[in-house]
Amino acid sequence: MKKSKFLLLAVTFLAVVSTAVAEKKNDVTRSLHTGKHRQEIIIPKVCGYNVYKADLHTHTIYSDGSVTAPWRLREAWFDGLDILAITDHMEYRRIERNLIKFMGAYIKEEYRHLAKGVNTNIQGENDKPDEHGILVDMNVGYEEALESNEQYGLLVVRGVEITRNQGHYNAIFTQDNNKIYDPDIRKAIKNAVDQGAFVFQNHPKRNPDTKTKMTPLAEEMYEKGYVKGTEIGNGHAFWGWLVPHCMNNGLAPISNSDGHASISERFYPYYNDGAYRNMTLILAKKCDEKSIKEALFAGRTIAYHSNKLVGKEEYLVDLFKNSVTIEHQCDTKKSTLVTLTNRCSFPYELKWGKNATAVVGAMGAIQISLPKGAESVEFTITNLITGGKKRAKVTLNFKRKPDNEYLRAEPNRWFPY
Ligand SMILES: [Zn+2]
Ligand SMILES: [Zn+2]
Repeated sequence: MKKSKFLLLAVTFLAVVSTAVAEKKNDVTRSLHTGKHRQEIIIPKVCGYNVYKADLHTHTIYSDGSVTAPWRLREAWFDGLDILAITDHMEYRRIERNLIKFMGAYIKEEYRHLAKGVNTNIQGENDKPDEHGILVDMNVGYEEALESNEQYGLLVVRGVEITRNQGHYNAIFTQDNNKIYDPDIRKAIKNAVDQGAFVFQNHPKRNPDTKTKMTPLAEEMYEKGYVKGTEIGNGHAFWGWLVPHCMNNGLAPISNSDGHASISERFYPYYNDGAYRNMTLILAKKCDEKSIKEALFAGRTIAYHSNKLVGKEEYLVDLFKNSVTIEHQCDTKKSTLVTLTNRCSFPYELKWGKNATAVVGAMGAIQISLPKGAESVEFTITNLITGGKKRAKVTLNFKRKPDNEYLRAEPNRWFPY
């Protein structure tokens, strides 16, 4: 081969390789999610309502998150969500100092003394603000997300995290985040309530004295009716001890990412069993502000955390019944064989009979053996949580196929049940 031809080939080869590498690099952001497409999460109707998938607790660079608001939206779309709330910390905005430094040349001389940020960590200062109050515009993150939402068409929700040592509370569907702050957390929560916001408790604290109950502030806020929901799931944490309180008091069970860094980094490598990021599933007629707010105040939610679902029994039972069908296949010498088909994106962990267990996977089918001649089966679904130790129970009835001599032979038992 002539030297020049070889060189040309080599250059072409390198160009192809480097293009491929460049393309791969450019694609890293998307591949960190679920691929080049939005992941659709299929959930049947529950009690006649559509089920919308929401993350009601996320952070951006406007508090202590490491991503922008439009990025949060993009992630939510790829992750298959319908609703996203931007809820930056009001009293803890770690990144603000650097943002001001970056914008330094724009600041008038007379304001330079404020250029280190004001009240960027009220929580860290033992909840004591200085006389300036909060100077930044706490609506900017929401407005940025809304601007880029034209591309995605999700329901973007304005919100804020009231962040004190005494507890963290999310107010969503606020009218103006800049009119919520008050040095007294009770008044701040009330300000949000007066705006018509839905307020819920974030990553709840236990009462340091009793260790089993909530803090006195939380109890007071529930009693006054200001707080209508509680996070059962937040990031990797799951508060099983709060489920009875939530169910007994008609509060909405909620589960959110509380994403500060990239969601894919936080959730997907960790949940390698195929679970999704945390979601609050909202049972509503439509995916608009009015319907979603109405559903939240009515407590029509299911908290999803790592394939565990927490909610009222009637919702979880209906979810299961609308997801899973049962069909009689045949009888063997000793048993009746049925096929369970799951047309939902969540797996169900089943228990029946004496000690039999199986998982019917997301969008999958399994076959199980029942006592010969059975016409129904009662399942306890161990990942559908309706109370502290209570799990949803569902009886599925099925019609037996007429006897078929051919099928009476023992089938090939490839399945382990
Ligand atoms: Zn928090
Ligand atoms: Zn948070």
